[in-house]
Amino acid sequence: MGFFFENKLIIFIGLVCFFLLLEQFFYLNKVSLKEKKKKFIHISLLAIISGSLVSPFGVLFLVWFSGVWEQSPLRVLSSHNYVLAAIIGWLLLEFSVYVAHRCAHSFPLLWKFHRVHHRDQNLDCLSALRFHPIEVGYFFLFKAVVVVLGVPVPAILIFEMSVGSFALFNHSNVKLPQKLDRILKWVLITPNRHHYHHHALDGDTQTNFGFCFSIWDIIFGTFNKKTGKPELHYGVLEKVDSGTGEKDSVKTVTVQKSNIEKDPIHIVEFLRMPFK
Ligand SMILES: [Zn+2]
Repeated sequence: MGFFFENKLIIFIGLVCFFLLLEQFFYLNKVSLKEKKKKFIHISLLAIISGSLVSPFGVLFLVWFSGVWEQSPLRVLSSHNYVLAAIIGWLLLEFSVYVAHRCAHSFPLLWKFHRVHHRDQNLDCLSALRFHPIEVGYFFLFKAVVVVLGVPVPAILIFEMSVGSFALFNHSNVKLPQKLDRILKWVLITPNRHHYHHHALDGDTQTNFGFCFSIWDIIFGTFNKKTGKPELHYGVLEKVDSGTGEKDSVKTVTVQKSNIEKDPIHIVEFLRMPFK
């Protein structure tokens, strides 16, 4: 296990390369190499800011915060059954990011930051790195609410690694065989499930909020069962804001490339977007 933690950055870069390669041969939607190159440069810069500056401090904060309550329930449980405490802690962390994601679509202030992620019109594994640094930061605050219950440190570290790997997988532009997707969707957030979440149509955007497992979407009624190759237009509709679901009229709008907000795909524009 120590090997994975010490080399987590190299492993993560390896996973990005693996999915980029898969997307070349088993793609869901065809994207030109020119588009990919342009995206790679700007998303890499954003990932360096969020992944190299915000995330390590966030993880250190979580590790420290997990120890502040001496008689926390999971700490007491871990003295009797460490594995059970770690599994419960992991599931609660997964639940906290599900809640954080739903809040990002419900509260206009949080949506301003999450919108940076949703304006991507060419979904692929790099989209999993396209988060505003401030959004990466507030996701850690949601996780801290769970961590204070005494989540064992290895569970925190494994969760951070797994959620990043799953995000690469479910954003990836990889076509899974339909039969496999039909089975997997009840357990895991597959690319098809998450791509519906990025459909500019509000009815779809308000579904499939999970990161790793489908359990929270199934329990809370946000699971989107649609199957088949999605003919989707990703992004955010112009004028009517599809993320917050504030306007009922948006549900009746026909989504076309022409009524989706243009995406600047530039690092400086990404960082400024929420403040405009
Ligand atoms: Zn979202």
